[in-house]
Amino acid sequence: MEYISTRNNYKKVNSAAAISLGMVPEGGLFVPKQITEFTTEKIMAMKNKDYQELAVWIFKEFLSDFTEAEIKESVAEAYNSDNFPVEEKTPLVKLNDNTYILELWHGPTAAFKDMALQILPQLLLKSVEKLEIKNEIVILVATSGDTGKAALEGFKDLEGVKIIVFYPEDGVSRVQEDQMKTTTGNNTAVVSLKGNFDDCQTAVKEIFADKDFKAKMENNNYQFSSANSINWGRLLPQIVYYFKAYFDTIKQNGIKAGEKINITVPTGNFGNILAGYYAYKMGLPVNKFICASNDNKVLTDFFETGVYDIERDFIKTISPSMDILISSNLERFLFEMTDHDSQKICNWYQELKQNNKFEIDQQTKEKMQNLFSGHYCTEAEAKTQIKSTYDKFNYLLDPHTAVAVNSTKKYRKQNHDLKTAVITSTANPYKFSRAVLESLKEEKLSKDEYRIIEELEELTAVEIHRGIKDLENKQSRHDHSSNKDSLKEKITEILELN
Ligand SMILES: *Cc1c(COP(=O)(O)O)cnc(C)c1O
Repeated sequence: MEYISTRNNYKKVNSAAAISLGMVPEGGLFVPKQITEFTTEKIMAMKNKDYQELAVWIFKEFLSDFTEAEIKESVAEAYNSDNFPVEEKTPLVKLNDNTYILELWHGPTAAFKDMALQILPQLLLKSVEKLEIKNEIVILVATSGDTGKAALEGFKDLEGVKIIVFYPEDGVSRVQEDQMKTTTGNNTAVVSLKGNFDDCQTAVKEIFADKDFKAKMENNNYQFSSANSINWGRLLPQIVYYFKAYFDTIKQNGIKAGEKINITVPTGNFGNILAGYYAYKMGLPVNKFICASNDNKVLTDFFETGVYDIERDFIKTISPSMDILISSNLERFLFEMTDHDSQKICNWYQELKQNNKFEIDQQTKEKMQNLFSGHYCTEAEAKTQIKSTYDKFNYLLDPHTAVAVNSTKKYRKQNHDLKTAVITSTANPYKFSRAVLESLKEEKLSKDEYRIIEELEELTAVEIHRGIKDLENKQSRHDHSSNKDSLKEKITEILELN
């Protein structure tokens, strides 16, 4: 399969090049040139495959320059029982007859990002080998919390790769910060940055686009790549669990074979929900995608009005992984919605840069609204949702998943559409223990995060995720910090560039 740039400013490349470059060097994102659509019969024939088999099936479609052996090896390395010591890697939990939770956080770091970041390093190493790249790869990551740790775990101690993670100093939870700072591995670096996530992401994107710095890296036998969801290798693995969830919904009698479902995704950078869209393009029977946001509801407004407007305050919420105003992957989505009209994409993103907003045309807007519906959930509503879901179903939601559950309710009410919904759960509740416990107890708590984790366990008897257990006693190994204008100096220092 060939990959093209959303901005029509780069040659067609194979998947190895798309993955090792991370993003289009001139700006723009790599997308598959076309996607094979399967018949429902063909899809249903995969119904009884396990996670690894489904992954191989899907990867073969998109990684045509990889051998089957390479794909199988990567899949086996990533989705093994050490990384996912559970019977089902992505369990589907029934809340009621038409509501299912897809738990995507059983990987090593308790966030759904493990689903992709456990395999991206394998795909990247094999890509580098195929392209006979001699430079050492430096993965630059901007994180709102969860990507950082998941990427560090995926890439640590990998030969020929270094990884540097930047996170917003005041934008991540204590657990998230400790998870990152305690990472072992002699090829890892973690840097706290003064600013919010958008500052972090923008600064990193600027470095990717900086030709002089690129040349400096080259002189030192280094080159950059990305583990953020701008990298196609991050999105591809996420397609797999939408198929798995669909088959599991059938097995649990939530739908009949071939019946359409609704899918709700708590959204930040628009990567997870976009992977769901690609699954739909491959033929997965989906009625509606419900794009769930927190108070940073740029996307909710966009799906309603067709205007993408980031001229607004950045609000810090209890679902920090969704505190994003610029959703990188929306560009890929719009490219699909306009039937690959690069000119429109270039114009819109030029406008966004100049005026902090753009408006899409009527036709694109209608097409998008036929398949997507945006909803948002306030802080108070998210907290109430955590409590009511726990009281009613004895099920503990993390704040991101709570936003999704609440948005599903709003969608149903507004549209009178009670089709079976699969709601993706993107983090284990212990990752955000303070917000969860405060919601259950309906009071503000001042005690230390780790005492809160203990109390949450006592109260609910829900097992603490292994990635969080004992974190308090692990040694902190990283203490770099930087402001957003001196990333290059920091990287120079870490890599000891001349
Ligand atoms: C990253 C993340 C999200 C947002 O996912 P996108 O693919 O960026 O839309 C939602 N919830 C959690 C817990 C996350 O870590």
